[in-house]
Amino acid sequence: MTKKLTGTQIRQSFIDFFVERHHTFVPSTSLVPGGDATLLFTNAGMVQFKDVFLGTDKRPYTRAVDSQKVLRVAGKHNDLDEVGRDDTHHTFFEMLGNWSFGDYYKKEALAWSWELLTDVWGLPRDRLYATCFKDDQGNIPTDEEAAETWKQQPGMDPTHILFFGRKENFWEMAETGPCGPCSEIHLDRGEEYDNLAGKPHQCGVNGECQRYLELWNNVFIQYNRLDKDTLEPLPAKHVDTGMGFERIVSVIQGVDSDYKIDLFSGALDAIRSLTGDSLEKMYADFTPYRVIADHGRAAAFLIADGVVPGNVGRNYICRMIIRRAARFGTKLGLHDPFLAKVADAVISAYGDFYPELVKSREIIVDNLTREEIRFARTVESGTAYLEQLLEELRKSNQQVLDGRKVFDLYATYGLPFEICRDIAREQNLEVDETGFHLAMDEHRIASGGGKAMGKMGGEDAEFYAKELKDLQQAGALGESGVEYNPYKWLRTKGPLLALAENGRLLTDAGAGDRVEVLLPKTGFYVESGGQVSDTGVIRAADNSWEIEVDDMRKPSAGVIIHVGEVVFGHPKAGQMAVAEVDAVRRHDIRRNHTATHLLHAALHKVLGDKARQAGSLVTPDRFRFDFNHPEAMTPEQVERVEKLVNEAVAADLPVRAVSKSRDQAVAEGAMALFGEKYGDIVRTITIGGDYSYELCGGTHLDRTSDVGTFIIVSEGSAAAGIRRIEAVTGRAAYDLISRRGKSLKLTAAALKSSLEEIPQKTRLIQEELAAARKQLASLKADVALAGFMTSLQNPQMIEDVSLVVVELPGVDKEALGKLADKFREKYPQKGICVIGSITGEGQIIIMAAVTQDLIKRGIKAGDLVGFISSQLGAGGGGAPHLAFGGGREAEKIPEALAGTKEWVGKKLK
Ligand SMILES: [Zn+2]
Ligand SMILES: [Zn+2]
Repeated sequence: MTKKLTGTQIRQSFIDFFVERHHTFVPSTSLVPGGDATLLFTNAGMVQFKDVFLGTDKRPYTRAVDSQKVLRVAGKHNDLDEVGRDDTHHTFFEMLGNWSFGDYYKKEALAWSWELLTDVWGLPRDRLYATCFKDDQGNIPTDEEAAETWKQQPGMDPTHILFFGRKENFWEMAETGPCGPCSEIHLDRGEEYDNLAGKPHQCGVNGECQRYLELWNNVFIQYNRLDKDTLEPLPAKHVDTGMGFERIVSVIQGVDSDYKIDLFSGALDAIRSLTGDSLEKMYADFTPYRVIADHGRAAAFLIADGVVPGNVGRNYICRMIIRRAARFGTKLGLHDPFLAKVADAVISAYGDFYPELVKSREIIVDNLTREEIRFARTVESGTAYLEQLLEELRKSNQQVLDGRKVFDLYATYGLPFEICRDIAREQNLEVDETGFHLAMDEHRIASGGGKAMGKMGGEDAEFYAKELKDLQQAGALGESGVEYNPYKWLRTKGPLLALAENGRLLTDAGAGDRVEVLLPKTGFYVESGGQVSDTGVIRAADNSWEIEVDDMRKPSAGVIIHVGEVVFGHPKAGQMAVAEVDAVRRHDIRRNHTATHLLHAALHKVLGDKARQAGSLVTPDRFRFDFNHPEAMTPEQVERVEKLVNEAVAADLPVRAVSKSRDQAVAEGAMALFGEKYGDIVRTITIGGDYSYELCGGTHLDRTSDVGTFIIVSEGSAAAGIRRIEAVTGRAAYDLISRRGKSLKLTAAALKSSLEEIPQKTRLIQEELAAARKQLASLKADVALAGFMTSLQNPQMIEDVSLVVVELPGVDKEALGKLADKFREKYPQKGICVIGSITGEGQIIIMAAVTQDLIKRGIKAGDLVGFISSQLGAGGGGAPHLAFGGGREAEKIPEALAGTKEWVGKKLK
């Protein structure tokens, strides 16, 4: 606390400290975990190293240091409830960590953490505490090694070395798998931080008050848990440490809140510049400020990682936190979009270390503002409706609002569940979360988006991880598991290593059985990067059985599974098998995949670099490509893009795949995609000299000319701010052209024209048609007028009143008005005229006109029309001298009109 370092300097000093101790700096991975569909967001530093601990992945280094972006807003780790209410919780935060993969262990790790905290950062030694593991159940040995190490640290008070049990000091990844004791470092911040001072409470490390703060956790992974009672020592021991970045910065900068560190001050200043609040006023009502600063930061990082606001999954979370921030803004009197200003402050505070923020600035600002505007349109009616629901709840003496109703609020007014819960809780009521998620799932399944989370991982991951280990021990599989090379092999031969079904091994299978097949190597592509899996056949080398493969899976690292159905015979584990990819289908897929890269490059040329890929689906028949763009493309833009791609196809550009280090590829400007997991060695695809350069694991053509033809089938909206292009190539493009050609030929034949003359001929026919329609309308009007004039000559007489009732087809309201004038010319007084008509559009109109003198005698046009229209199943009315009505039952018009005479007769009496 002696040195005033900025947050950025503190992060860098952590990294430098460990790099000097031969650690490799590993950049933070995306908030969207690559290749792990079981996880919505990266929620811990170890996510990107999980496979290393499980022993299914290897890295070129054994020591690593990182600052990992983490989001805890969904699933098991959800801190949303606490954010804003206190000074230590965040949805988004950074986790500092140093890692040893079978390299150094407790002595080094603990000594270094002590050295960094005390020597480098100057924390007072006498205020630091260390905790070590001592099993409260008495089964696992006490971690004496850690305790001994602590005793040797210079200035460490031996009475500050404490022991705790499994809850505090033993870490497990899952019910089985890697685990081990941990050792935490805590700081006594002094009595002034004791929020429970004066009350009797457990005051100390892992106690009840806020005086003692956990700073750093060192996890020592030394066991493999086989079952509830059995731990087996690991041959390679690992170190996994984690230190909440915001917390250590607050300690070093000597502030009493994570939100008072320098990295937040820009965002808070930006909000204050809008509210006009002083620092004191802000601190007095800090909650809305904390929520906005936290959510604004999280949203900026999310959007930079490709997660834009939307309705489902990750996109819903992004939408929810933006809307929640906006609502807290209204509490501060902010009603116009303001989050762009917060995001700008976040970008300047974090942009140097996280360049993706700077690169995506426009996309971030644009998405935030548009989401705020969208929300502003519905928030008032939504909250008003919610208030009404809560009022009803109170009246019926209930506490919990039905989740289904909360979902309706979201579906109709865009009011996210979390905001409804905020509002309900402000009134000491609750909302039913389970019901909300049920309703949301039902809705999602009904709208066809159920499989949004993919199919990696799953329940049999452990079964296959164990199977892999067994096969490796038996020497049937090498260290990296199944050999996978979809780029080289369309046909492989090898023994059928395992035959399985629903997470259990089969000794054999018969025709019609669905099975999963494990082979020592395969060329079948496994769905990734938007490209679908290959299909094909696996058959016995002696042709005694055959399995039709229709899907591929990677249940855990190193394991690749062929999924299919036995067509005939009885496959058994151990038999020699030949696996063959459906090469024709694969070739169609290659065409489409190479075309997505050409399309991506063409979009950049036409729309600019911001038109970044946001997702894709590459199948044999067609492909779909999503990209960031705020508005619909014009037809000219679509045409230009299509032309550019076809020019690149015709240019017969070479497509080259080269593997290199990720850092080099990114430095060379290769486009990396969000949500993809990239190792340290990446595969790059270059088209032409520099036409397109992307990181990609897909299968591609050798030359672009093999695409054949590229045709855009549609351009439309995929989500807010995201456009989607669907396109075809090769055989599918030929089919499309051929189909379109046929309908053109049919059209030409019907028009009696050549193909080239179709547009001109069509225009001509349209003009002729328009002229004919006009003529017809004028003829109809003439006929109607003539008929009407005849009727005018022959009125029915009721006492001294002339009544003209006539049905005229095809006369619209405007023309009826003119006929009324003709009537008045002929009968300036003592006249009534009623016309019923069905217009060209099939609409029934009843008109009545009455001369002034008769109004005094009780005959009103409005009443008359009402009388007639009511018999036709509709209503009508208007002024006493002129009124119009409608009707639904055309067949009753004659009868209804015939009743006029009697109606008038009665009125005159
Ligand atoms: Zn206390
Ligand atoms: Zn690709």
